[in-house]
Amino acid sequence: MLTIGCHLSSSKGFLSMGRTASSIGADTFAFFTRNPRGGSAKAIDADDAAVLNAWMRERGFGKLVAHAPYTLNCCSDKPHAREFARQAMADDLVRMEFTPHNYYNFHPGSHVKQGAEAGIEMIAAVLNDVLAPEQTTTVLLETMAGKGTEVGRSFEELAAIIDRVELADHMGVCFDTCHVHDAGYDIVNDLDGVLEEFDRVLGIDRLKAVHINDSKNPCGAHKDRHETIGAGHIGIEAFERIVNHPALRDLPFILETPNELDGYANEIEVLRNLQR
Ligand code: FE
Ligand code: FE
Ligand code: ZN
Repeated sequence: MLTIGCHLSSSKGFLSMGRTASSIGADTFAFFTRNPRGGSAKAIDADDAAVLNAWMRERGFGKLVAHAPYTLNCCSDKPHAREFARQAMADDLVRMEFTPHNYYNFHPGSHVKQGAEAGIEMIAAVLNDVLAPEQTTTVLLETMAGKGTEVGRSFEELAAIIDRVELADHMGVCFDTCHVHDAGYDIVNDLDGVLEEFDRVLGIDRLKAVHINDSKNPCGAHKDRHETIGAGHIGIEAFERIVNHPALRDLPFILETPNELDGYANEIEVLRNLQR
């Protein structure tokens, strides 16, 4: 069965997110580890986290896909911004161990005209600083649409980051369908070809999670504007192939479509019905 959920607010704590997920037919979810646009984090309630862990185990939930705040930029041209990203990620990875064996996804960053090469080096340097051998969390690089100076616009850029990480066993990739499509990979007409390329460049074992979003823009637009499932340039037939593809079908799928909870409940049902 498809493992699927959406982004949920963490404002009422861990168990509350699990209950909300269940109420919309989800069996995984995503949440921001701290204020997505600021960066502040509230103290972890260890009991609440432990209750959620047991609660999800009983219900057969899949792995969670936590998301770092958008404001982190590991390859900023400002040293204090890189230092903030390093500290926030280090702290997030400590916090993630309260819900062990899940995923922590982040946007590699924007190199702000320093060049992708320089960006890749800075991102890897942060990862080499914050990853610890004993952690149970796998850190995921998100595939990016390539708007502005985003790093991670190609599978090669993601591979170049992972190649420089010493504890690469703790690294994986989150495949955002809107971003990959906007980056110029034709997942509508050649999903097999795109995933073969992913395998050739990164190794298919690195693929750990999917952000399942339609796109308001055509393939290669480098825009990153998410659309509801079926209403954009990717379209429902492509999503049917995506949720059934052998390389994807058993991964956690996270919706980041422009929706409220009832809209997510509907998309979860639609996508579950597409899986054979
Ligand atoms: Fe993201
Ligand atoms: Fe995403
Ligand atoms: Zn996006």
